[in-house]
Amino acid sequence: MTAVTLSSIYPHTAPAAPATPPWAGYATCDLIVIGAGYTGLSTALHAAERGLQVIVLEAVEPGFGAAGRNGGQVNPGLKHEPDEIEAHFGTDVGTRLVAMAGEAPGFLFDLVERHSLQCDAQRSATLRAAYHPVSLSALDTQVTQWARRGVVIERLDAAGVERLTGTNRYVGATRDPRGGSVNPLAYARELARAALSAGARIAGHSPVRTLQRTGDGWRAHTAGGSVLAPQVVIATDGYSDELWPGLRRSVVPVYSSIVASAPLPDAVRDRVLPQGEVVYESGQVTTYYRVDAAGRLLIGGRGVQRAVRSADDHRHLSDYAIRLWPALRGIDWTHVWNGQFALTPDFYPRYHAPAPGVHIALGYSGRGVALATRFGAALAKQVSGDDPHALPLTPTPIPHLPMHRFWRLGVLAGVSWGRLRDRLGR
Ligand SMILES: Cc1cc2nc3c(=O)[nH]c(=O)nc-3n(C[C@H](O)[C@H](O)[C@H](O)COP(=O)(O)OP(=O)(O)OC[C@H]3O[C@@H](n4cnc5c(N)ncnc54)[C@H](O)[C@@H]3O)c2cc1C
Repeated sequence: MTAVTLSSIYPHTAPAAPATPPWAGYATCDLIVIGAGYTGLSTALHAAERGLQVIVLEAVEPGFGAAGRNGGQVNPGLKHEPDEIEAHFGTDVGTRLVAMAGEAPGFLFDLVERHSLQCDAQRSATLRAAYHPVSLSALDTQVTQWARRGVVIERLDAAGVERLTGTNRYVGATRDPRGGSVNPLAYARELARAALSAGARIAGHSPVRTLQRTGDGWRAHTAGGSVLAPQVVIATDGYSDELWPGLRRSVVPVYSSIVASAPLPDAVRDRVLPQGEVVYESGQVTTYYRVDAAGRLLIGGRGVQRAVRSADDHRHLSDYAIRLWPALRGIDWTHVWNGQFALTPDFYPRYHAPAPGVHIALGYSGRGVALATRFGAALAKQVSGDDPHALPLTPTPIPHLPMHRFWRLGVLAGVSWGRLRDRLGR
């Protein structure tokens, strides 16, 4: 047995990070982007392509946040089904949001091709798998509602899902051909490279400490100097700090955990997800998994609500993997890690415009790989003045989440309740 490393596998499997030296000096530009995850980098790339002078200020390095740590699942849609989204937002906003969330994976895969981003992208489909009959009607609803919008999602019975996953745990699934996977840190670093090639500047290790309103716009101060621009995009999601008043406390910065196995032996690899789909389970506690380009199983879900400290923090995930595929017993688990994403109470992403020239998009609630990429492109279109309504969402005030300081307890209680409900539902 090898010792488990308490950090992500991705730095070992992604291309080297482009050089992003810390900000030094003073400059003016058209757009400041704060945060170099998918939202910020996609905004920067698309805004630079539209001819804007863009400076990205990142606290650590591109992909430091959830963008460089996630499960790599490129999933279409939101947590809610289309009819519910349209009822929630009204026909105009709802229809556009449903369309954008549905097309987001295709947008990402096209972007990867257009810029030759080296990130193991695969349009291999998303499986949503149900392990209890109570979830089957939700799968049928998903198929029916997307069919009415011209999207063919396949409904699989227990035998069908066993054929695609190699486990007999599930009673049914859907297979959405729009989904797939990327190496998430590779994708973030390659997006940064593309943004730099398009003319954007990116400064790493440059946390923005204050944003000061000036007559000409906004001045972002870092330890090494400042940048002035008429417009600012704040793209800090689950890593939001005190920079913009109230933003950090407006979302729940939930931790999600992932465990990576050693490359699976050929005999096992042929059975676990042989066609390369990614899987997420429908249930109160979402478990998700895929097999990466080197044949490692990456399985993730809820876990400790703090940074990882020991392999024991994630034992429940590797135990669950063995429950799914008993042939994995004895396999080495080499890396465990976690990261934070911004969860909103209604699971809908948010767009805020709290002051003239300031734009904030966050709260993808665990579905940001494709959607944050797509939102970034829409933000770029919006800030460039090409389409003031490119984002489907109308801006809302930054909400105050009551009892925010108890978020860890709330998440843990939610997880326990979810586990209990899942157990009772079996
Ligand atoms: C473990 C895990 C698994 C996940 N799995 C999936 C998945 O499989 N599929 C999916 O669709 N989604 C998944 N998600 C969610 C997804 O990763 C996020 O929705 C997405 O990365 C959000 O992108 P972002 O650019 O908005 O934020 P982030 O990628 O979190 O980037 C925010 C950046 O802001 C920077 N920052 C913060 N404050 C400042 C400041 N003051 N100055 C400068 N920079 C600052 C941070 O350093 C960080 O780099 C997962 C998340 C986690 C944590």
